[in-house]
Amino acid sequence: MELIRHLNCPHCGTEKALSPAAILVHCDACDCAYTVNGNRANSVGTVAVLTQKKSKLSLGVTGSIEGHAFTILGQIRYGNSSDFWSEWFGITGSGQVLWLVERGPQISFLQYDEIHDIHLNYSDMVIGQSIDVGGEQFLIHAKDTAVFESFEGEIPFDISIDRSFPYISGFFKDEFAILEFCDGAIARYRQRAVSLEELGI
Ligand SMILES: [Zn+2]
Repeated sequence: MELIRHLNCPHCGTEKALSPAAILVHCDACDCAYTVNGNRANSVGTVAVLTQKKSKLSLGVTGSIEGHAFTILGQIRYGNSSDFWSEWFGITGSGQVLWLVERGPQISFLQYDEIHDIHLNYSDMVIGQSIDVGGEQFLIHAKDTAVFESFEGEIPFDISIDRSFPYISGFFKDEFAILEFCDGAIARYRQRAVSLEELGI
């Protein structure tokens, strides 16, 4: 994967190589975060340094999934009422974005679909209930709010620290998925468990 842009941190001037997908960047020299727009970098404040967990995944690690080689370029730490987890941002040689979720010892490959024309009220969601989502039954296993706590490297969207996302998680048949309620829209993230061997890591 080619890192085609070089930008300087607007706070301390440290140069960093970025992928074409980079929108929000952490400067590991001064812990400032900045957004990237073309060749312009705008400081958005400082970020809490991530406490690293014992993991085989880290920035710069390469692997492959479903035949696509990728490089990990960023890590987001989310937390909910009882737990925290990492979402690793990777990019393939052709510039495709992918995400791996790491929660405890388990790693999952996350696939995002937008859901259109589905109207669900977050406040009506009840754990243990089965709901209809576009003709498929979804069994609600958990209901919580994910909070964006911190990040490192680069990520392909702009988000503010402490932004929260109400969600429900559960199952379409055997498939684990998360439905996130955000600004009146619902995003569906299907998760499939993957091993390090499968990822070639
Ligand atoms: Zn800096």
